[in-house]
Amino acid sequence: MSGEQQAYDLICIGGGSGGIATARRAAAHGARCAVVESERLGGTCVNVGCVPKKIMWQAAETAETLRRAQDYAFQPIDPTLDWPALTQARDAYIERLNGIYDRNLDRSGVDVIRGHARFTDPHTIEVDGQRYQAERFVIATGGVPGRPGIPGGDLGIDSDGFFAMQERPQRVAVVGAGYIAVELAGVLHALGSEVSLVVRREKPLRDFDEAIQNAYVEAIGAHGPTLVSHFTPAGLEAGWGGYNLYAEDGRSLEGLDQVIWAVGRLPNTDELGLVAAGVSADERGTIPVDDWQATNQPHIFALGDVTDNPYPLTPVAIAAGRRLADRLWGGQGDRRLDYRDVPTVVFTHPPIGTVGLTEAQARAQYGEAVRIHETAFVPMDYALAPAEDKQRSTMKLVCVGESERLVGIHLFGVGSDEMLQGFAVALRMGATKSDLDDTVAIHPTSAEELVTMS
Ligand code: FAD
Ligand code: NDP
Repeated sequence: MSGEQQAYDLICIGGGSGGIATARRAAAHGARCAVVESERLGGTCVNVGCVPKKIMWQAAETAETLRRAQDYAFQPIDPTLDWPALTQARDAYIERLNGIYDRNLDRSGVDVIRGHARFTDPHTIEVDGQRYQAERFVIATGGVPGRPGIPGGDLGIDSDGFFAMQERPQRVAVVGAGYIAVELAGVLHALGSEVSLVVRREKPLRDFDEAIQNAYVEAIGAHGPTLVSHFTPAGLEAGWGGYNLYAEDGRSLEGLDQVIWAVGRLPNTDELGLVAAGVSADERGTIPVDDWQATNQPHIFALGDVTDNPYPLTPVAIAAGRRLADRLWGGQGDRRLDYRDVPTVVFTHPPIGTVGLTEAQARAQYGEAVRIHETAFVPMDYALAPAEDKQRSTMKLVCVGESERLVGIHLFGVGSDEMLQGFAVALRMGATKSDLDDTVAIHPTSAEELVTMS
């Protein structure tokens, strides 16, 4: 039936977090929908992102717990890891998720079209020679890892390559300063590799509040990957003793078993036929959208990592998609995602949790009206640990005005990952410092510090 056209109310291009969520919600409102996916259902998050990362993080946390078991008078435990067994179990879990996504789409009445979609005109896509038309399209094609354009750049691996590794590298450089670099460096360190975290500037995580940057740098200084600062990669070579990574200033890291690039991601729009669709994109291929997820073509929408969305995160892609479907097919005329105050966690050891404005952003916006409350303490998790193993937690509240309305919460320490969600609700609801003070503490926890801070 090559060349025949099938018509839908909605076609989502990309079967990842955003595309699946949009199609299922639109179908629930009665729209006739299809999702096109060229790889495995679930997209980046399920296959090479959040899910395998969280499993590796959990393995790393378990290794730390086993190491610290002696503090509680257990006999010493040698946490030797069977890497192939761990990664096989992880991949089997992901395969089960792929199947669940497939069945859920089927149950929702959404057609899954397998293959690579390309626009041939603003109302038509082609997948493996077959044409499909839709009243509306959602582009949710996500992103792919970027690499520095330096000699030997292709000798290293990226985060996709990290999840494909058959064994744990002993000496490894992780290059980059964002979420992925610090997360992968932390996992490998905890699982026994010698890790250099290589950053171009002084510190990683420069978009985060300075208190968090400093707490993270202090923590890894004591127990973590070795931070190599002011190292701008200029070339990577394969030598007899392993890979050699060279910096612009002539420094080098030599004899590495693996180099992992974590230098940012690129929108996945290269082979999408955006010109044929008449959809504008910037020079990197990022699709700009308005507050309603609309591109410059009124019937073509885009969401998730392929857009200029400030938070390339799974729940953001999902939330944007569901709200778009509610608006277009659910009769909810003003429904859209508010991109302010999105909470986010970085799975370092211990984790980072952050929502709202950093102190610097708040000062730029509110000047003298900003009030800061900050604390650092050793959580009870380390009560019986030797002094050199005790890891401090840091918490900062950014407030504004006479009422001290909360505009930012920044956490670093054990439990921050699970602690933040509820406090993010409070911040969105306009909570003030006195609302926190008036809430009775839960003792003994780290979270109680947030309601007992002076
Ligand atoms: P994706 O999930 O990337 O889905 C896009 C899909 O489109 C892909 O399956 C792709 O194969 C398909 N596709 C592309 N082009 C075409 C085409 N032309 N035709 C057909 N199909 C196509 N976020 C969090 O919230 N928490 C985390 O802990 C977290 N950890 C992460 C860890 C790593 C290592 C990475 C890389 C990302 C992580 N993220 C995390 C980010 C998260 O994965 C993304 O924000 C999310 O997956 C974006 O969803 P999306 O729908 O925009 O795109
Ligand atoms: P980021 O954009 O967060 O960070 C990449 C950083 O690498 C840059 O900010 C830059 O920092 C540095 N860099 C860029 N180019 C080079 C270079 N040539 N050499 C050395 N360093 C370089 O990208 P990530 O890939 O880490 O993550 C992408 C997104 O995925 C994140 O923004 C996040 O939204 C999402 N994600 C979320 C996770 C979570 O929720 N836990 C986990 C993982 C990813 P500088 O300019 O300071 O040098």
